[in-house]
Amino acid sequence: MVAGGGARELEAVLDAAVEPVVACGADERILHINAATERLLGWERAQLLGRPVSDLFPARLHHFHGLSLPRYLLSRRKVLGGRPTRVASRRRDGVELMVELTVGASGEGAQERIVLTMRRLHEVIDTLEEPVEHVPGSPDDLAHPGETVDRLYRLLVENAPLGIFHFDRAAIITACNERFAHQMGTSKRNIVGLHLFTLRDEGLMACVRESLGGRTCDYEGDYRSLTSGKVLPVRVRFAPCYGDDGEVEGGVGMVEDITDRRRVEAEREAHIAQLDLLFRSAPVGIGFVGSDLRYVRVNETLARINGKPAEAHPGRTPRELFGAHAGSAVEDMLGQVLKTGEPLVQQESSTDEDLGLHGPRRHLSGSVYPVHTPGGRVLGLGVLVEDITERKRAEEERAHLYREAQEAIRVRDDFLSIASHELKTPLTPLSLRLATLERRLERGEHVDPSVLRHARHQLTRLTGLINDLLDASRIEAGRLSLHPEATRFDVLVEHTLTSMEGQRGNHVFDFERPPEPVSVQGDAYRLEQVVFNLLENALKYSPDGGTIRVRLAVGEDVTVLSVKDPGIGIPLDQQQLLFDRYFRARNASTRSYGGLGLGLYISRDIVERHGGRIWVESEPGQGSTFYVALPTLSAARQAPARTQTDRHLH
Ligand code: ADP
Repeated sequence: MVAGGGARELEAVLDAAVEPVVACGADERILHINAATERLLGWERAQLLGRPVSDLFPARLHHFHGLSLPRYLLSRRKVLGGRPTRVASRRRDGVELMVELTVGASGEGAQERIVLTMRRLHEVIDTLEEPVEHVPGSPDDLAHPGETVDRLYRLLVENAPLGIFHFDRAAIITACNERFAHQMGTSKRNIVGLHLFTLRDEGLMACVRESLGGRTCDYEGDYRSLTSGKVLPVRVRFAPCYGDDGEVEGGVGMVEDITDRRRVEAEREAHIAQLDLLFRSAPVGIGFVGSDLRYVRVNETLARINGKPAEAHPGRTPRELFGAHAGSAVEDMLGQVLKTGEPLVQQESSTDEDLGLHGPRRHLSGSVYPVHTPGGRVLGLGVLVEDITERKRAEEERAHLYREAQEAIRVRDDFLSIASHELKTPLTPLSLRLATLERRLERGEHVDPSVLRHARHQLTRLTGLINDLLDASRIEAGRLSLHPEATRFDVLVEHTLTSMEGQRGNHVFDFERPPEPVSVQGDAYRLEQVVFNLLENALKYSPDGGTIRVRLAVGEDVTVLSVKDPGIGIPLDQQQLLFDRYFRARNASTRSYGGLGLGLYISRDIVERHGGRIWVESEPGQGSTFYVALPTLSAARQAPARTQTDRHLH
């Protein structure tokens, strides 16, 4: 044994070494161990001095090829060339630790010194699991009464549903249960002796320091296995351990594997996020109102409908948000549901009339229902609001179209019955006249030319009706063609008047020819059709014997023809409609005045396509005046001689 001051100095040097160092004599009995060895193997120096060094290794390693472990390794020194050998060492409590062992020797005979240097292997997973060897005489075998408590204590620790580890003041793990080893992904053997600070996790290190300072500390984080890289989410509660002297002698850590908890939490968060997204992006306004009638939360859609930002709602009553008028209407509705517990479903209201909210008028459909806890306590009210303005508009539009379609069907049916009546009317006298004619001719009697004239008149009327129908359908199809040329309009009017002599009855035509000739650019045939139609209507809708005044007001730009009759007139509200297809004023009953309601429709098309305008001034019972304005081509100059009208005239 080294003695004296030199020995103490050597001791101090060895204690400062980080690696555990054990020195023994030629008899392999321990002469010295340093502080690192004490920590690693759990012995106190005094207990080991003089004991065989083999006590530091499991029994199976005591002999190799007939040599002790140190001697065997010394014999292989050359081969090893200073490289360490990995062996299991044995702690005082029987737990085995893997270490890298280097053995050296100096001196001869009794002076020989053998030095074992050990290096702790942290988390070795590539070693084969070897069951901890049962060492006879180990503390487990001692059967004194205190041990029962110890055993119970061990069972308790081993069976705990938590990973449990103990560490000393130097933050080195001195003991742990199987669960902890399992959590760390290695064996107990590899864990005991592990310096907690080598895990290099700031949070863990802080907690270790805290507990060594006498305080408990919680750590939560992902533990990453240093060797396998496996990540385990854990929650660790650190607590100090006190020795008999009341001083902190180390700490204990209890490790909960929170993988499942994390998963459940993540699922719940995802679930909540989904619900939240659903809530926020719903195309329906959704809100929750507390039982104090204050908004708790509304989604963006409801905020938009309410015309206030979503964040302005929480904590406010409808009255505070929308003012007394609109707010109290909403509050009444909410209050009613709260009081009766009966939901209001799809109540329709409009923003201006019922709710008095500002902005363009919108139609809303709202439902309010009480929200209960599973125990039946009313938490507040759920509000669902849908903006149905578009839907309403579409409905109104549909109803409008439906009414129009119905009207079109009615007009068509009326027209069919009128048209068939109108077409049939001339046929009866026509066939009567023809029958008379036939009878007389058979008998060789004299034939009255008036019979033929009447027959021809009915035929002309029939042709006129059919022509009107054809013209109207040509106009509808955009196929009524015009052949405009310079036309003497004054001559055209006069000619039309003359052609109607036969049908004017006792009516008087009063036409003042303008002093100067007037020409327009037009289709003479079609313009004559317009004038004829106006004169025919004037005759038809005024009492026999009345005077029909026809005037031509000639302006530089416009020539205006007016036809004034002393007839039945036209109700004011219908004057605009006269020029529509099939339209007949209500005072022109089919019975008294035949007609298809096409003449003015055709006339308007012809006039407008000449760049002109047609209109009426009338008072029921006071007669009517129809006007046709056409652009003047030339008023003072004589129009070219060969116009279509002229051909008719000469
Ligand atoms: P109709 O063949 O029915 O006369 P029109 O298109 O020529 O067809 O006229 C349309 C409607 O205008 C007539 O049914 C009648 O109600 C009204 N109307 C036209 N001219 C006159 C008029 N001079 N006096 C009163 N009502 C008229």
